[in-house]
Amino acid sequence: MPKKKNITKKTTKNPKKPQAVKEELLLQPPRGMRDILPADQVYWQQIRRLSEKAAADFGYRRIDIPLVEFTNIFSRSIGEGTDIIDKEMYSFSTKGGEKVSLRPEFTAGIARSYIQHGMNVSPKPVKLYYSGPCYRYDRPQEGRFREFFQFGCEALGEQDPVLDAQMIQMGWRVIYQLGIRSVRVSVNSIGCPACRKSYRSLLVHYFESKKQKLCIDCKKRLEKNPLRILDCKEDKCVQVRASAPQSIDHLCEECRVHFKELLEYLEELEIPFDLDSNLVRGLDYYTKTVFEFLTVSEGGGDAKKNALGGGGRYDGLVKMLGGESTPAVGFSLGMDRLAVEMKKLGARQYKEPKPRVFLAQLGVFAKKKSLRMFEALERSGIRVAESFGRGSLKSQLKVADRLGVEITLIIGQKEALDETVIVKDMASGNQEIIDAGKVVDEVKRRLKKIGH
Ligand code: AMP
Repeated sequence: MPKKKNITKKTTKNPKKPQAVKEELLLQPPRGMRDILPADQVYWQQIRRLSEKAAADFGYRRIDIPLVEFTNIFSRSIGEGTDIIDKEMYSFSTKGGEKVSLRPEFTAGIARSYIQHGMNVSPKPVKLYYSGPCYRYDRPQEGRFREFFQFGCEALGEQDPVLDAQMIQMGWRVIYQLGIRSVRVSVNSIGCPACRKSYRSLLVHYFESKKQKLCIDCKKRLEKNPLRILDCKEDKCVQVRASAPQSIDHLCEECRVHFKELLEYLEELEIPFDLDSNLVRGLDYYTKTVFEFLTVSEGGGDAKKNALGGGGRYDGLVKMLGGESTPAVGFSLGMDRLAVEMKKLGARQYKEPKPRVFLAQLGVFAKKKSLRMFEALERSGIRVAESFGRGSLKSQLKVADRLGVEITLIIGQKEALDETVIVKDMASGNQEIIDAGKVVDEVKRRLKKIGH
């Protein structure tokens, strides 16, 4: 029997050169990442609008920082032994050998920028706000993504607890204005490094005596980051920590007064808050105040708490990164979770301002004139709709009808040559021919007369 020829091998021109294997093209983003399509932007736009307005109202100025920082900016600030640093960072080496990471949050990068740009000489507090994507390689689930978006504010250079209260006020206001009403604020104070040291040893002493009852992760946390045992979700750890010493009972005088004043401000603002002695927020840089914005949704009998945002004071961070000692406080909101919650509640969406004028055209020459007319109208602040791709006047007028515009402008072949435009009042159906040069003023006059 003749030997069967291997056809696939025959196509190899140079047998020594390995053939490039064509990888399967996956038409989807990596796990935990997604597109935010126009249909959902009505929520996102509302979030962006209201959060930026709140920031501006409270005197915050926008800052944009790179998506990528040197890895040690994050590991020094957030701290080894935290989930973010140990498990969740997207870290890689660049072609130049730099060790960098995608930001898992903004505060560390902002503190770096504050030092680098000498913002310490600016009037205090330096008030900054930001928004943008963050990356954490966590297990994706409802409301938890690997790429997610945060909006947040940071105030650097002021230690007064009134700023802590203002942060909570701002975050709460944004959430409330978005239509999410079942929100509560959890607050706690984890003290300053001085009082935390003695509290930490009390905690270690307590958990050591119950070590057998802790989960594997918490056994490790006992050495690295014992405060984190307080926010473990494992049932057995929840039970053990029920009688653990609480940080607010072990604050030094300064931290105690700071916390007391914050709570008084919150009462004054009538913001509903709960003291949560288990709230520690997990990151190393926090001092004194920590807080979270929570919604409680009833799901199948058990109430599920959903963190829409959180923040706290980080008086030691700037110094930790090499700057001068700078008290600071900040918060961030999870925009993805806000959008999910708004959708669930059927909250008010952002509505694009409706166009009031439609521009129709007929013929190539008229189309050219229309392009210019469109720009002239837009430039003078008139919102215009068009459907330039359509040829027939009838189908264009149909679109105008559907949009419910008040005026339709028509440029046909004749009008294009005469430099005129037909102005049609959609309510009465009356038409008038006017000079092209006068259209903008005429449209403005008519719209003003119609009013809103
Ligand atoms: P954190 O400082 O980690 O508490 O983050 C602040 C807020 O960002 C949280 O309260 C969430 O609303 C949001 N957030 C954090 N991680 C994620 C994630 N993986 N996916 C979606 N939102 C997140």
